[in-house]
Amino acid sequence: MRTMEPVFGRPLITQEQIRARVRELGKEITTAYRQKDLVMIGVLKGTFAFFADLVRAIRLPLHVDFLVVKSRSVRKPAKSGKVKLVSDLSDDIRDRDVLLVEDIVDSGLTVQYLSRVLAKHRPRSLEICTLLSKPSRRQVDVDLRFVGFEIPDQYVVGYGMDYHQQYRNLPYLAVLDPHLVQKQDPR
Ligand code: 5GP
Repeated sequence: MRTMEPVFGRPLITQEQIRARVRELGKEITTAYRQKDLVMIGVLKGTFAFFADLVRAIRLPLHVDFLVVKSRSVRKPAKSGKVKLVSDLSDDIRDRDVLLVEDIVDSGLTVQYLSRVLAKHRPRSLEICTLLSKPSRRQVDVDLRFVGFEIPDQYVVGYGMDYHQQYRNLPYLAVLDPHLVQKQDPR
């Protein structure tokens, strides 16, 4: 039987650490958006786990919506910043307070592109929340209002994040060891 765990060493960030940080982010967002008209926009597929936990940690009325973007290939930066939008918003965000939720900001090109797309819809405010940030990989300057964890330049999977569409259901965040993956995965 193939299992996931042998591919990873210790979790980079444990379930308990994720839970505690998401609770804190929920409180910060609740405080920041008290008098606002909050629309949370999740970028799929990578944010599905984080997004579901985060919205439930926010004690305010809010709306949810999603953007589906085509994932770029592993380790290849989205050079042009042109991310393919597979599915657009379903609701109007004009004059509303938008919080874009990402799984990870690496070069920054994806959030820069998505912010420009959303700004065209004329929201009243537009901020970014990301579970993870790799500051050492940044190519463009992006303003991240809420950051779960800053991590070094390592490829991480789990808690919604994938490697070739696998490992999204790993309940914690782990660093992928490509040698072990090749040994285990017959493809
Ligand atoms: P950026 O445009 O900031 O370079 O890349 C952002 C996107 O690249 C993320 O939304 C994610 O899909 C992917 N990505 C970047 N680093 C990682 C990583 O360490 N693990 C995984 N699974 N995806 C990553």
